[in-house]
Amino acid sequence: MNTANKPDNMPDHCDVAIVGGGLVGASLALALQPSALQVALIEPQAPAAAPVDGAWDSRVYAISPGNAAFLQDLGVWSRLDPQRVQRVETMAIAGDRRDSRLQFSAYDAGLPELAYIVESGAMQRAMLEVIADSNGIRMICPAQAAGLAISEQSAQITLADGASLDAQLVVGTDGRDSLVRREAGIDAAISEYRQSGVVANFNTEKPHHGTASQWFRDDGILALLPLPGNRVSMVWSTNEEHTQTLLALSAESLAEHVAEASKGAVGQLQRITPAAAFPLRLAHVARLIAPRLALAGDAAHNVHPLAGQGVNLGFRDARVLAEVLACRAPRQDCGDLTLLRRYERARREDIASIAISTDALQKLFGSKSVLLSGVRNFGLGALNQLPVLKNLLIRHAVA
Ligand SMILES: Cc1cc2nc3c(=O)[nH]c(=O)nc-3n(C[C@H](O)[C@H](O)[C@H](O)COP(=O)(O)OP(=O)(O)OC[C@H]3O[C@@H](n4cnc5c(N)ncnc54)[C@H](O)[C@@H]3O)c2cc1C
Repeated sequence: MNTANKPDNMPDHCDVAIVGGGLVGASLALALQPSALQVALIEPQAPAAAPVDGAWDSRVYAISPGNAAFLQDLGVWSRLDPQRVQRVETMAIAGDRRDSRLQFSAYDAGLPELAYIVESGAMQRAMLEVIADSNGIRMICPAQAAGLAISEQSAQITLADGASLDAQLVVGTDGRDSLVRREAGIDAAISEYRQSGVVANFNTEKPHHGTASQWFRDDGILALLPLPGNRVSMVWSTNEEHTQTLLALSAESLAEHVAEASKGAVGQLQRITPAAAFPLRLAHVARLIAPRLALAGDAAHNVHPLAGQGVNLGFRDARVLAEVLACRAPRQDCGDLTLLRRYERARREDIASIAISTDALQKLFGSKSVLLSGVRNFGLGALNQLPVLKNLLIRHAVA
């Protein structure tokens, strides 16, 4: 990995400074490579080591086929171990009534798969390997952005160690508590779900047949995502009290509890990674851009994980921003606001539709009202009978 190597307080220059080397920031750095821009990627955390003895990462993501193709183009996908990537062929969603079920199948939609389940750490390591092999990206790690000043001519990032970096454009991919967003004075409307996503992986008694299953329950939304072999990864989005209960259970009790809640869909379970919880919220930013600045990934939006779309939205941000910068006029400044407006316009609808639909579903299924319960169960059953609408939803999800 390339690391910063310059005297303290000496201003340095690049075309695009990306603050935050998580999945979205790292993918953007790679996507900018064909534009021959000088890119710096600032990240405080050294990459996590590969798991020992083939252990499974409890953070896994459903990645859309469109984003898998993007990662393929970046040279990242081919570095993933295919034995550890699972194709999702069916999605099954159950409401709180026996007859309320919705099923999407890749076969019915004429697609090879609906999504891939990939370990977060494996994707991150693959990206950092490709970055280390590239010549055009300067990885500044470990380093933390501590301040930002924007003038007409350039943007200047101050690092926590006092060093600074000048750029034509700063992109904030520094996650949900983005310093870049704060320093740029961009407001975010944040509403806490007062829920966490509790994750853990399990061995299963029965095969999952490539099905990602979801149960909308009184105590939240339970999802079991298929992993290679007889394994699944759980995301249980649930209130704080139930989160604490789940975290306090022994491995055996949690496995029993999840097997029961999932109605034995994959038989008995055996927990293979400790449970961990991540607080959930909805965040909507007033603007995605400012002069010499753009936001992408969780710095720009936080959505409920029930549709597995957070990082997918972030990858689509990276794809569009890279395309906009690649198509700029010769010698056009990358921080030019007219250019950045194209990025903002192109991203608004996708971000808003995912945020609104996941929030509405979460509220509909989180409600204790008898009327809403009827509506949601009727809605799932009715939608299941409408192949055209189902196909429309699938086309959006696989982008
Ligand atoms: C339970 C759960 C399940 C989920 N499942 C899915 C799923 O199946 N599919 C999906 O698409 N999404 C899913 N998501 C959403 C997904 O986790 C996020 O959208 C995604 O991780 C955001 O990536 P990011 O790179 O934007 O931000 P982050 O992963 O938060 O990365 C931000 C980076 O910025 C760095 N940083 C922070 N501050 C600074 C600073 N001052 N200077 C420099 N660097 C800084 C951090 O170290 C970090 O590396 C899920 C989320 C949860 C909670």
